[in-house]
Amino acid sequence: MVLPIRPCGWTSTWKRCRLDRTARIAFALETYQRRFRLLDWDIRFTPDNANLDKDCTAQLDIEDIRRRATLRLSEQVVGDQIERHVVHEMTHLVLRDFQVLSMQTAAKAGAGGLAVIDVLADQLERICETVAEAMTHVPWEPFSKKIKACHAPFARDVNHSISEKESK
Ligand SMILES: [Zn+2]
Repeated sequence: MVLPIRPCGWTSTWKRCRLDRTARIAFALETYQRRFRLLDWDIRFTPDNANLDKDCTAQLDIEDIRRRATLRLSEQVVGDQIERHVVHEMTHLVLRDFQVLSMQTAAKAGAGGLAVIDVLADQLERICETVAEAMTHVPWEPFSKKIKACHAPFARDVNHSISEKESK
């Protein structure tokens, strides 16, 4: 039996991989699509960032009916942050059906439901950041304006600021 040759072993660290940025993104997508059992999704990466929100470091364009997702990554996402961002976006896909159902349900509740949608969106980001931190061990960096401290309560700098407030 011939096994496909991979750029590095499943247990290798990413630092040992000498991959260029696009190859590293593709390898991360393949790895985490498999690990998260998202093989029913067609997941692609595009370097075309024309539609990428300037305050976003990553964006996933999702076509639910075709089960297709297209990832866009800001050029400032390099090195270990590639893996962290890919895990974050893959977690969004794992939670996709839950997100759609819960937001549709909240929307039916009228004005109060809109507030629920905001809370749900924040909680989804918090879950994605927590999973990304746990799976990659890559430190959280608030380098996007849309990323709020409440999305990463585990982050050292957030905990520092909390402990500083408590000591005053
Ligand atoms: Zn997110």
